[in-house]
Amino acid sequence: MHDLADAPRVLATPGALRLQSERWRAAGLSVALVPTMGALHAGHRSLIARAGSECDRVVVSIFVNPAQFTSGDDLARYPRTLRADLAMLAAEGVHAAFVPDAAAMYGAGFATGVQVGGAVTSTLEGAFRPGHFDGVALVVAKLLITARADRAYFGEKDAQQCAVVRRLAQDLDTGTEIVVCPTVRDADGLALSSRNVHLSAAERAQALALPEGLAAAARRFAAGERSGPALAAAAAAVAAGSPDLVLEYVAVVDEESFEPLDEVGGRARILVAARIGATRLIDTLCLGAADAPTTAFVVGATSPVGPDVAPAGRSRPCSVPS
Ligand code: AMP
Repeated sequence: MHDLADAPRVLATPGALRLQSERWRAAGLSVALVPTMGALHAGHRSLIARAGSECDRVVVSIFVNPAQFTSGDDLARYPRTLRADLAMLAAEGVHAAFVPDAAAMYGAGFATGVQVGGAVTSTLEGAFRPGHFDGVALVVAKLLITARADRAYFGEKDAQQCAVVRRLAQDLDTGTEIVVCPTVRDADGLALSSRNVHLSAAERAQALALPEGLAAAARRFAAGERSGPALAAAAAAVAAGSPDLVLEYVAVVDEESFEPLDEVGGRARILVAARIGATRLIDTLCLGAADAPTTAFVVGATSPVGPDVAPAGRSRPCSVPS
């Protein structure tokens, strides 16, 4: 559906994005939104490709949202590669790049907050990064309102964020379908992340204990284990083999509510977060879905992390439609 020859139109203000989207919609074209913080990689590219295959026009937002950072240091350290990002968007045939600065998003006198309640924001990432999901909810609400997209695309790697966004889109009747895309991994199994550039070779090797731990839990699950704490312990035991990996949490939760599960019945998810050096990493796998596996790989994988493996783009995420 793309005209691959076109570079994306760069839009710097919410008003310009709204106008562009309204023009497309008036012409009968469907609009996709892919929210990102830039430093784009193949994980982002998979979202963009899916958006382009399902909608007539694709907007990618690039905004390092200060409201969702809980530590100023992390915000300052976040990689910024705008020139390369725009080149990638051009190569992907993206129609518009929304690249606002903080003043354009949160102007003088800005005083509005958006808060999603419940376990979905209070546990795990919400507990370790207080206020993080308020910032996510605020920026996503603003992007959904502004872009008037038919569909918005998010990555399963940030599964808790997906659950928060689904809740928000449903509660606020945004009219945007939330689409969750599978996690894209490097060949060694590490989930792609903009933060991976900060890992030294030694740190990266230790970080592999995260996907390997999830794979161990998935194997236990496939063998019949249904105790949430036992499955989490299987992943934690692998992570314990990496001495510099500081685990923040490993948890098995209900896919939709994010309430912790003692027993896995229906759809469940195992999530892990850890620090290695100054870098914080998260990863996740779906447990118990009939349509598992949940993993996509950049290139032919040598160490699959799921109980089963499908080629990139063919696996389906463990998600519940909004
Ligand atoms: P970020 O730029 O890190 O905020 O990510 C923007 C979007 O890309 C989010 O919806 C992420 O979940 C998604 N994303 C990030 N990494 C990956 C990955 N490895 N595979 C699939 N989606 C990803």
